[in-house]
Amino acid sequence: MPLDAWRTVTAEEADRLTAELQREIGAGHVLAGRRATVVRRCSGCDDVIFRVDDDAFAVVHLTWSGREESQPWPRTVTLPSFLALESYVDSHQH
Ligand SMILES: [Zn+2]
Repeated sequence: MPLDAWRTVTAEEADRLTAELQREIGAGHVLAGRRATVVRRCSGCDDVIFRVDDDAFAVVHLTWSGREESQPWPRTVTLPSFLALESYVDSHQH
């Protein structure tokens, strides 16, 4: 699945996704304390690609519980570069 099969989101949706991410990640989570902004969202499974601290990416499956989750939730795959993201997205299937 190429990256352009993942849809872009509105500013409002991006705010909602980012706020939920911040609610769900606990102190021990890999994204704790890092700045995350929404890049795209999978229309098939709702995974969200976040850009992390300007130089990395993460694909997160939010739980939508609205509260802090225990490890390893929300399920997150961190990717150190855009190339790693492209490779991950290419092999993404449902
Ligand atoms: Zn998906």
